[in-house]
Amino acid sequence: MPDRTPEQDALRAEVAKFTASEITPNATRWDVEHADGAYPMHLFTRLGELGWLGIGFDEALGGSGGGPVERCILFEELAYGSAGAALGLYVHTALAAGALATVADPELAGRFVPDLLAGTTTGAWAYAEPDSGADVTRVRLDACRDGDHFVLNGSKMYITNATFADLILVVVRTSGQPGRLGGLSVLAVDGDSDGLTRTPMDKLGMRPSELAELHFTDCIVPVDRLVGELDQGFRQCLAILSQGRVFAGALALGLGRAAFDAALAHVGTREQFGAPLAAKQAVRMTVADMATRLHAVRHLVYSAAETLGSGGDYDTEASIAKLVASETATWVSERGLHLHGAQGFMLESPAQRFYRDCKVNEWGEGANELQREMIFEATAKGYRP
Ligand SMILES: Cc1cc2nc3c(=O)[nH]c(=O)nc-3n(C[C@H](O)[C@H](O)[C@H](O)COP(=O)(O)OP(=O)(O)OC[C@H]3O[C@@H](n4cnc5c(N)ncnc54)[C@H](O)[C@@H]3O)c2cc1C
Repeated sequence: MPDRTPEQDALRAEVAKFTASEITPNATRWDVEHADGAYPMHLFTRLGELGWLGIGFDEALGGSGGGPVERCILFEELAYGSAGAALGLYVHTALAAGALATVADPELAGRFVPDLLAGTTTGAWAYAEPDSGADVTRVRLDACRDGDHFVLNGSKMYITNATFADLILVVVRTSGQPGRLGGLSVLAVDGDSDGLTRTPMDKLGMRPSELAELHFTDCIVPVDRLVGELDQGFRQCLAILSQGRVFAGALALGLGRAAFDAALAHVGTREQFGAPLAAKQAVRMTVADMATRLHAVRHLVYSAAETLGSGGDYDTEASIAKLVASETATWVSERGLHLHGAQGFMLESPAQRFYRDCKVNEWGEGANELQREMIFEATAKGYRP
């Protein structure tokens, strides 16, 4: 296990303490109040002040050092308190700031990344569209070059943080036809741009995070907002998405752990047939299986993080980690709810929240069927577990 240096243990303890005092006690309220647009915005500034948004970024851009293992610790522990709150922070730092820091030219990165890492501005990452889900080649949001700017027309859907984000990294088509990855570029678009409307979307889970549908109508974006090369920007961002699978795995692990702990506590105290539920062998087997699967996920996620941090070939490990972590979180959350019985079905119970929050991890950062395709392709090229 790579998360074992004294510094990493100290970080884990610090984030866990923060989660216990500032996230977990509010998680149910944030979940219920989402209809009012209640993303806990103060988390951006608090995590910025603590230096946690800057984990994994160069100090020159306002980063605070550390690498993938430290970032996994952060997202695992935050998601233990509220996966929805963690999702907004994940998109902001790992995807929006991550793509800018890695792919944009130094001037553009320097203009935006320090404020994002300080938490004084907020970011979003937008590639999904009504007709473009798992198949990104179908992106059609049109960005037509006109002198020193692009004119955007089209829409995006299901974009986390986009209701309030100051900066949205938008995947656009600058050439070619849907069905091709070439011709896709990335633009850093101001959230309050003229010609951009943002409509909130309600959803089943991850409710503290906010989701928006975006409509671009003759929206002007200066050419100097191009992130990476024209027509190649999305291709250049693929590594960010692949790395994101490791952090999404950590988020799913934190969520699964929360579901496990709640279930364990419940079966230890709920008495039926003259004894706690945990006295029943069938219940004990279920709890043991939950613990076993989460233990395996921990190893997969942190092994992938270590490979990524050491500059190794992490793609397949990242796919495996995200695949197993997300499906385990779903399974553990469902079993956890089952063990709670009717009590867990009540809206004030965290058990039903875990059950609703987990599902999206199976589509996010590439649908799990795509991960399976990639893992199979890797075996054909010689990968062996
Ligand atoms: C809470 C939430 C937050 C989100 N945040 C963002 C965000 O910040 N930015 C953003 O760009 N997008 C975001 N999305 C959208 C996300 O990118 C998409 O959900 C994802 O790309 C999958 O697309 P889709 O949902 O349209 O499903 P589809 O692509 O329509 O897939 C439907 C079903 O088919 C399966 N499937 C897909 N491909 C294959 C295949 N090759 N073989 C077999 N089965 C397959 C899928 O697993 C799924 O079960 C978010 C979605 C949600 C729900």
